[in-house]
Amino acid sequence: MTTHHVPDNLPGKLQHFIGGELVDSLSAKTFDVLDPVSNTPYVTAAAGQAEDVDLAAAAARKAFVEGPWPRMAARARAKVLNRIADAVEAQDERLAELETFDTGLPITQALGQAHRAAENFRFFADLVVAQSDDTYQVPGRQLNYVHRKPVGVAGLITPWNTPFMLESWKLAPALASGCTVVLKPAEFTPLSASLWAGIFAEAGLPDGVFNLVNGFGEEAGDALVKHPDVPLISFTGESTTGQTIFRNCAAGLKGMSMELGGKSPAIVFADADLDAAIDSTLFGVFSLNGERCTAGSRILVERPVYDEFCSRFSERARRIVVGDPFDPATEVGALVHPEHYAKVMSYVELGKTEGRLLAGGGRPPGLDTGNYVAPTVFADVAPDARIFQEEIFGPVVALTPFGTDEEALALANEVKYGLAAYVWTPKLERAHAFAQSVEAGMVWLNSHNVRDLRTPFGGVKASGLAQEGGYRSLDFYSHQQAVHVTLGPVHTPRFGTVQKGQS
Ligand code: NAD
Repeated sequence: MTTHHVPDNLPGKLQHFIGGELVDSLSAKTFDVLDPVSNTPYVTAAAGQAEDVDLAAAAARKAFVEGPWPRMAARARAKVLNRIADAVEAQDERLAELETFDTGLPITQALGQAHRAAENFRFFADLVVAQSDDTYQVPGRQLNYVHRKPVGVAGLITPWNTPFMLESWKLAPALASGCTVVLKPAEFTPLSASLWAGIFAEAGLPDGVFNLVNGFGEEAGDALVKHPDVPLISFTGESTTGQTIFRNCAAGLKGMSMELGGKSPAIVFADADLDAAIDSTLFGVFSLNGERCTAGSRILVERPVYDEFCSRFSERARRIVVGDPFDPATEVGALVHPEHYAKVMSYVELGKTEGRLLAGGGRPPGLDTGNYVAPTVFADVAPDARIFQEEIFGPVVALTPFGTDEEALALANEVKYGLAAYVWTPKLERAHAFAQSVEAGMVWLNSHNVRDLRTPFGGVKASGLAQEGGYRSLDFYSHQQAVHVTLGPVHTPRFGTVQKGQS
């Protein structure tokens, strides 16, 4: 048993936020939200239907067409974004408390995510002010310049892992660009999103610019994707959901950005700094409860150090502190929801038939309730094993040996995903050659997963479409209109000037 911390002053219910007002669903439908330690409902949330999405899209459209936000100078919008960052920072502990309660993420990691959310707003405030657009001159004849305009109402659909931070990742560039938004947070974890309305109001964001509709993906999410007044969708979630949304966006020819699943490899060569590689690969797959899109969930190890790596890695995995997400000593908390817990546990059982169990393998001793999974390590996993191929999204890792660089590359690329890769070797040529050949949107060489916000973020293959990050995010939420001006006499071929009978 662990203690069960319940935050004070939890909201009595979670509503939509439309046009500056907190409202219930028109149908009055609601759904229960569970916390992952007790697995009992602690609040009901409004279950948004198509008619609620209609209202939210109409409010966002009105704010876009008639309101000041899209027309404000970048500096003025940036001031609001910086005040949003201040407000997020000022309530970082409350935010982390709500996030940990709702998601089961360890409190220290939830606090880090709150700071990253504030940083996202500060970063896009800076970027939008510093942004320059292209101008092309044909001396004496023509000037061509790019006039950047916000696209319109952005539909933002987010998953339940690090919900508040991932919402900020979309909200900050969308708002910086001058778009108005409708956010549909994940149904497993709507609690922290309920703070946005207050944060935005305090920062001076005009009513109608930010709208939030709670509800299920198949109802509220689907209606948002299909809404005719929503010209672009930014989605983060599973690859199969991405395929459905892609199909539904096709009908409206909508702009799309998709950050999807992963099964990222960490490649440890025999010459690697094993201490650093073990620290990083452990954190890479077990932080955020393993519910991390960029988790290094397949570790490929060169044969001469494979046995040593397996034994040192699994020994550390067995010592990871699993338990009460509110305990600052906890390293792995409770998985988000009983359905997800059942899915991860089914992979743990499958792994026992597909690999050699070195650590974990089920519920940790002494934690009889709550969605706890012991960090689980399988060795000798063949590349055709399902635990090698499929995203588990929990604290489960597959270790596989390799002989040559070519074999390592083939193993790394042999899955449908291509989000991240981690390479451990001191040899520069080997590291760069590998980085440039591996099918991954992002590669870390001898590095822990840290990312400068200016760099592209996204995956290839089944891991995503259209990279965001830095100015790419501003590009996604903007139209870049080309304006062409003639400077001298107009040189136009003169149609209709030939007299009849002349050739
Ligand atoms: P999910 O695809 O089940 O749900 C994500 C969101 O989509 C939720 O808000 C859900 O309600 C909504 N949704 C579901 N069906 C929909 C539909 N038909 N139309 C519109 N919206 C719909 O994903 P999840 O289980 O919440 O999140 C975990 C997944 O997210 C993992 O695959 C993980 O790798 C991925 N992820 C990717 C990144 C990245 O940057 N690449 C980051 C975080 C998470």
